[in-house]
Amino acid sequence: MKALKELTRPNIWNLKPYSSARDEYKGVAASVFLDANENPYNDPYNRYPDPLQGNLKEELSRMKKVAPERIFLGNGSDEAIDLVYRAFCEPGKDNVVAIDPTYGMYEVCADVNNVSYRKVRLDAHFQFSAEAMVAASDENTKLMFLCSPNNPTGNNLHREEIIRLLAAFDGLVVVDEAYCDFSGERSLSQSLSEYPNLIVLQTFSKAWGCAAIRLGMAFASEEIIAVLNKIKYPYNVNLLTQQRALEALRRHEEVERWVEILCEERARLMDELEKLPCCVTVYPTHANFLLVKVTGAKRIYAYLVKEGIIVRNRSHITLCDDCLRITVGKREEDDLLLETLAKYKP
Ligand SMILES: *Cc1c(COP(=O)(O)O)cnc(C)c1O
Repeated sequence: MKALKELTRPNIWNLKPYSSARDEYKGVAASVFLDANENPYNDPYNRYPDPLQGNLKEELSRMKKVAPERIFLGNGSDEAIDLVYRAFCEPGKDNVVAIDPTYGMYEVCADVNNVSYRKVRLDAHFQFSAEAMVAASDENTKLMFLCSPNNPTGNNLHREEIIRLLAAFDGLVVVDEAYCDFSGERSLSQSLSEYPNLIVLQTFSKAWGCAAIRLGMAFASEEIIAVLNKIKYPYNVNLLTQQRALEALRRHEEVERWVEILCEERARLMDELEKLPCCVTVYPTHANFLLVKVTGAKRIYAYLVKEGIIVRNRSHITLCDDCLRITVGKREEDDLLLETLAKYKP
């Protein structure tokens, strides 16, 4: 890997970050806070939240087996995605390489930040080649994006190929593990010491059932996390979110139960979909959704909408002709989908 200084935009590397009142005071317990122009009334919402989310990171560190200094928390993983562009990619000059198809936010953030986005097409099994990714890169490639299990295809990327890319590419590799709780794969966050160029993303939005609170995690070397912390908004994760997340962590057995139920339901939904005449292929999945090739995605999508059932039409996406992406729901919800599809007349 190149030195992090070489991969970071010079203005960011040299940046003196904003120092908030809560940053400057870190000491023994005090009882009078007259430093942040807060209102003394309306406790506890009158106080600015912990800018570095110390308590939450401590609990997460225990659960995820990653040191707190290697954890960044953001307003969804989407914040972390945007910040890696802003930290490492010089607009109009640098570029990134990503698998195609994948999660749309990587390209949107590239466009917002005026960073050129190079796509490398997956193969017929929705797998990638490290060699092809490296071949698509040049000296201005700062980042590569992988997503495993991948959205919208649902499959795990081959672990050996991810490892190969981490070794072969001298910039940073982002591996988005938003769906890893459903995948049965060990998280790459356990391999941060071996790969200083690795950034792993996870989220509270999927398995944790907390999309509304907006909380995403990035796991990386202490050095990379320090860069992200330097450029984030000082209070990017609000108090209510921090409290809710702590509450969720205390009830992690419930999350584990949801994941178990959803994985069983996923298998049932796959079997039942395969029996339907309008389903051509149900692709293998390690996520909480299924990519399904149907006899006419546009018409079936519109038919389902008319019946009050919303799925995602992915048919305009690379390698996803006539495909719908269907999230695994509760058994009753999936039954309604199946009954409705069974009544569909082509
Ligand atoms: C849903 C999803 C996310 C989650 O983003 P948040 O901003 O944390 O809600 C991240 N990556 C992928 C690939 C996703 O599908």
